[in-house]
Amino acid sequence: MPSAAARKIRMKLSDIRATLKEIGVLPSKALGQNFLHDQNLARWIVNQADINPKDYVVEIGPGLGALTRFILEKGAHVLAIEKDARLANFLHEHFRGERVEILNIDALKFDPRVLFAQREVKLIGNLPYNISSQLLLKFLGDPSPISLCLLMLQNEMAMRLSASPCSHDYGALTVRVQLHHRVKHLRRIPATVFFPRPDVDSAVVRLLPRDRLDMPAHDHELLLKLIRVGFSQRRKQLKKLLRQYVLDWDTLARDLQINPNARAEELSLLEWIGLANWIAPAPRPDTCTAGSELFPVVDENDRIRRCASRSEVHGNNLRHRAVHILIFSAGGDLYLQQRSRWKDRHPLKWDSSAAGHVTAGETYDETAGRELKEELGVDVPLKRISKITASPGTDHEFIWLYRGVITGDLSPDKCEIETGVFLPPAIVDGWTSARPEDFAPGFLRCWKAYRRKWPSDREESIRRETFSAADGAASTA
Ligand code: SAM
Repeated sequence: MPSAAARKIRMKLSDIRATLKEIGVLPSKALGQNFLHDQNLARWIVNQADINPKDYVVEIGPGLGALTRFILEKGAHVLAIEKDARLANFLHEHFRGERVEILNIDALKFDPRVLFAQREVKLIGNLPYNISSQLLLKFLGDPSPISLCLLMLQNEMAMRLSASPCSHDYGALTVRVQLHHRVKHLRRIPATVFFPRPDVDSAVVRLLPRDRLDMPAHDHELLLKLIRVGFSQRRKQLKKLLRQYVLDWDTLARDLQINPNARAEELSLLEWIGLANWIAPAPRPDTCTAGSELFPVVDENDRIRRCASRSEVHGNNLRHRAVHILIFSAGGDLYLQQRSRWKDRHPLKWDSSAAGHVTAGETYDETAGRELKEELGVDVPLKRISKITASPGTDHEFIWLYRGVITGDLSPDKCEIETGVFLPPAIVDGWTSARPEDFAPGFLRCWKAYRRKWPSDREESIRRETFSAADGAASTA
């Protein structure tokens, strides 16, 4: 049940005017301050998010709490991010004792990755319109911890997000957002429900993240470049704009069955991906599956007994050897890889920066150096961290865990890695404990072992250690 304070906050137009006057707020255009005074509509909007008490709802720009109070009525926990200190103070007072945290910051400065530490995150907001596309790209980055977004936007923006190919509204933002989300334009909202009235109509949209397998594998960076260049001059044909990427446009058009004179707005999402894959073919399963490697089979003390094929080792759960490598940026963030969709074990789960099996005749250290080069295209000194005993939780692997630091770029192998992300260790802690099912089990063991050696309060000293001369010398097997 909502508290008396939360009930008190139900606001009609006259209450909004009076409250703004009382707290000294003259609605600011720069902050997009148009307050919703239609309570039926506010209730309807919140109902579209299907909120339940287990949800962790992030609300951007709560203002005077028009939506907040209906979210709280559903029993969810709310994190409300409000830039205007006077409104934030008002909310503090009026929602005292409720399941709500008010953050008085600019939502553009909020790091959405901390939300991985929550199980079910929904994003709601009647957004300040002048920064809504920036907010969208920030909160809907890939990977995103958010399972549903329900947003009030300027109608023009809502039309762009939900547009179909060949329409006036279909543009680079449409394609970028729809690659990762299904977007539904739910309802157009007249300016009359706000105080003060904005100059434009609004609309409510719902965005649901796509399953990664909805879209064919592709080189995402290349695709984003093609989209940017392709939509840079809408009236120009793609064959002219993308000349630097495609020499033989006619063959491409024939292969993809698209109009050879097509403009950017004519290509569907799948055709954009087809275009990227025509230029740089995505890895296919037959090129990704491992060959006929031999692995050493070991006993319970990690002594080599014989060698066997990958299929025999995995099929019979025989003890064998592997390495996991944790690669950190100079700033101390850990690179996590998402395993390729083609992997026979744990496809699309998040995993160590690089990992792999020790093959016949190799030492653990040799394997670590090879895997790092093969999977991430780098060669940096590695330090041994810990050895993990083989068990069903490690897929019967004895694992040596290594750590290294890079200062340059990585070149992830697309056969092995679907995508990757650098994250501060504290966020990895939150994500692994809130959603362990997102990770390959071997990584969970490795991260636990790493944190036992180097807990969060040692992170600073690790960073210093990393750049001391000692780190330059790799340990030997
Ligand atoms: N949710 C309230 C409603 O529906 O009545 C207010 C919506 S009003 C359109 C936008 C709100 O976002 C205002 O309260 C404004 O102060 C806040 N805001 C503007 N820029 C912001 C930013 N960068 N970060 C967080 N809040 C912001």
